[in-house]
Amino acid sequence: MFETLSDRLTSVFSGLRSKGRLSDADIDATAREIRIALLEADVALPVVRAFIARVKERARGEEVSRALNPAQQVVKIVNEELIEILGGETRRIRFAKTPPTVIMLAGLQGAGKTTLAGKLATWLVAQRNAPLLVAADLQRPNAVTQLQVLGERAGVAVFAPEPGNGVGDPVQVARDSIEHARRANHDVVIIDTAGRLGIDEEMMRQAADIRDAVRPDEILFVVDAMIGQDAVNTAQAFADGVGFDGVVLTKLDGDARGGAALSIRHITERPIMFASTGEKLDDFDVFHPDRMAGRILD
Ligand code: GDP
Repeated sequence: MFETLSDRLTSVFSGLRSKGRLSDADIDATAREIRIALLEADVALPVVRAFIARVKERARGEEVSRALNPAQQVVKIVNEELIEILGGETRRIRFAKTPPTVIMLAGLQGAGKTTLAGKLATWLVAQRNAPLLVAADLQRPNAVTQLQVLGERAGVAVFAPEPGNGVGDPVQVARDSIEHARRANHDVVIIDTAGRLGIDEEMMRQAADIRDAVRPDEILFVVDAMIGQDAVNTAQAFADGVGFDGVVLTKLDGDARGGAALSIRHITERPIMFASTGEKLDDFDVFHPDRMAGRILD
């Protein structure tokens, strides 16, 4: 994760080690190199521009501490600005005052939604919640079975349409699941919805219909970090079509560049809440902007 960006930034900083004080020209040159490193990592241009402007402004300002040498000062500024661009504070799930808390997952097919549903359920069980997984992805032939298998592995109940009843109505499944959760004392409901390979009006409408039927406490947009800047475009489409409260980045284990991770918060103004880093149920964690920035600057 972030290997190239990490290497590039390390080399930018090491070039500053020998300097006693940074001139404006030094700051400009450093900013230029950081800009190139971010662009090569596939970070969206508006994000790069905003980031560089902040770093330059701060590096020139009076805030720099006498206790740090110029290289350390620049590292400190870049670290803080990375945390900011990644969302600042860790954003946790907002649980409903009256259970069940309804979490709806939306995203393209293949983004990792169904896998994520299983991971989120596993994580919630570890937090002493009693989640219910809901199979409202009735588009992809295997999605219901996949969720049932995941549920079994995670030891979590799955609510799915009865087999043999045709394709079924995902909106009705979602609605019924809430009722079922109340009766069976599940305090969190995780609804897996259908995605398509590309952005599609019908998919958006279906997701919006499910949203209107169950009024989720959290809508999480699940996106494959490996698609880089396309993640930003997809996020924009979902923000317009369905709306969402937070982002889950998946396949961060395969994302060497980090462009999506670094762009999506700034562009969508929605926090990254979770990160998925593999195919196993426990390859998953709350997204901490400060730890992620630390990893980039490691
Ligand atoms: P959905 O269509 O959005 O429900 O996507 P799936 O959950 O079926 O995931 C699509 C593929 O991506 C599957 O082969 C998953 O095993 C894989 N996958 C999901 N999350 C991750 C992840 O974080 N890392 C990696 N390497 N693979 C993942």
